[in-house]
Amino acid sequence: MDEIDFRSDTVTWPTPAMRQAMANARVGDDVYGEDPTVNQLEQDTADLLGHEAGLFVSSGTQGNLIAMLSHTQRGDEAIMGEDAHVYLWEAGGIASLGGVLPKTLPTDARGQLHPAQVEAAINPDNPHKARTRLICTENSSGGNHGAALAPTYFANLRHIAQTHNLRLHLDGARLLNATTALRIPPTAVSQHVDSVSLCLSKGLCAPVGSVLVGSHDFIHRARRLRKVLGGGMRQAGILAAAGLIALHDMSQRLDQDHQHAQLLAHGLADIDGIVINPAAVETNLVFFSLREDVPYTAPQLAQKLYETTQIHIGGYGIHRLRAVTHYWVGEPEIEQLLAGLKNLLHG
Ligand SMILES: *Cc1c(COP(=O)(O)O)cnc(C)c1O
Repeated sequence: MDEIDFRSDTVTWPTPAMRQAMANARVGDDVYGEDPTVNQLEQDTADLLGHEAGLFVSSGTQGNLIAMLSHTQRGDEAIMGEDAHVYLWEAGGIASLGGVLPKTLPTDARGQLHPAQVEAAINPDNPHKARTRLICTENSSGGNHGAALAPTYFANLRHIAQTHNLRLHLDGARLLNATTALRIPPTAVSQHVDSVSLCLSKGLCAPVGSVLVGSHDFIHRARRLRKVLGGGMRQAGILAAAGLIALHDMSQRLDQDHQHAQLLAHGLADIDGIVINPAAVETNLVFFSLREDVPYTAPQLAQKLYETTQIHIGGYGIHRLRAVTHYWVGEPEIEQLLAGLKNLLHG
């Protein structure tokens, strides 16, 4: 890449192998179901996650939106964490396009809903009440240090969902980061939910795309909804070719990003003025903050860092910063980032 960019793993460029595969991809009209590369990506993702069928979609946001619309009707209610990506960062799509009422609940420090609170939040069958229909979960838990949530958490929620005839959706944008960190197969988590949306365009480096998986019936409805949303993409095998490399090859190296995140977190902890607990970093998302007496706000520090080193990091609110490790930033880039921050704070 031209610049060292730690803001997100979405900044990742496709790898040389991906560009090659894209150039050579077999394609067809995917809206007719005739793109062999898309069909393979959909089936391979469904197999990897232990579900019947898959649907290639343009983004994680589209995957989550289609899933939530496919599981609900207008006027239904969906339970989710108050810090859920689908609630905070997806432009309110379930409300504006689905007419679905989000019911947000507090989460713990790792982004987990409390099962007893979820159960208590389900509306009774009463004409005054919206019909509670869906629980939305996330893994890794993006706003919460990229916490890798364990299968038992999802098993508990599945039990509640089944008892009350609700559906359970997993926003698994970084599911493979979570299961890599936990050293378990993805199915250990995905078997407990009705649908999963998996991003190929984050740490897995594909230029575009997510895959939504679930039952045949669910994906049948989802395919129509994708068309409604303008997401029927013709010769999409060009993109799916990169997606296959993301799914099969790039997924095998995520552990390296997590080791790099540890290296970065420990380096940050050694800089006076930076507050971070490296043990709270579970995957590739490294959140840290500035001590009160540091003479910069987080956005100011990020800006200064870029001006002095051309290295990008994310600065939020007053004190919070984020650096994300990925394929294009390794040890040398981490050393440069740490040196740049030391220089600004103590140079
Ligand atoms: C990135 C992300 C998404 C979807 O993002 P897109 O940019 O639409 O692909 C969804 N959920 C979480 C937790 C994410 O981090």
